[in-house]
Amino acid sequence: MSTRVYVVEDEPELVRLLTTYLERAGHTVRSFLDGQQAERAIVADPPELILLDVLLPGRDGLGLLRSIRTQGVGTPVILLTALGQERERIEGFRAGADDYVAKPFSPAELMLRVDAILRRARTGEAPGVVLHVGPISLDPRSHLVEVHGRVLSLTPTEFRLLSALMSRPGWTFERQQLLDMVAGPDFLGYDRNIDVHIANLRKKLGVMPSPIHTVYGVGYRMVAPEVL
Ligand code: CA
Repeated sequence: MSTRVYVVEDEPELVRLLTTYLERAGHTVRSFLDGQQAERAIVADPPELILLDVLLPGRDGLGLLRSIRTQGVGTPVILLTALGQERERIEGFRAGADDYVAKPFSPAELMLRVDAILRRARTGEAPGVVLHVGPISLDPRSHLVEVHGRVLSLTPTEFRLLSALMSRPGWTFERQQLLDMVAGPDFLGYDRNIDVHIANLRKKLGVMPSPIHTVYGVGYRMVAPEVL
């Protein structure tokens, strides 16, 4: 079955390029150069995916995104922006975006993200609930971690580690267990390396005393929320 993708973008050249790539991948494309027009169409007939430019005439992309989310449209959204800055990325995720690419981007890479998001939507993979422990919150969908509302910049390994610990506060994880859970392409497979990542994570969290406790001879645990 063909997937309907709406492209909301005011640069005709980029619209043409995206349309070519998307159609080649078998998707049906409808494009909008104007935010207001796009919003009406999305609400009336939501597609399977939206590629959304941030800077648009009429209605800016983030405003449009917030508006369709409050109107109950859960369609995955990939933001396209020339701004390419941390602040816009964060604002975008807060507004309900699923992914983000900064212009100029490689169309091939964008298509990989399109595939990943559509696959996730099709398999019904849960977007994941936001985890909270004391002042720390972790959003598995947007990969945002905040402490007292301040956004942290974590490496993928640190993120996975924190996510594992926060998923079971009060539970002691053995080093090897954590290693298995966080092992990724950037991870060196020696269980003492976990200690280095934990040290960095504690420093970045900046919460004193640290909510991540060392359990001597075993591993680590995240303190129970009521302790913080
Ligand atoms: Ca634009």
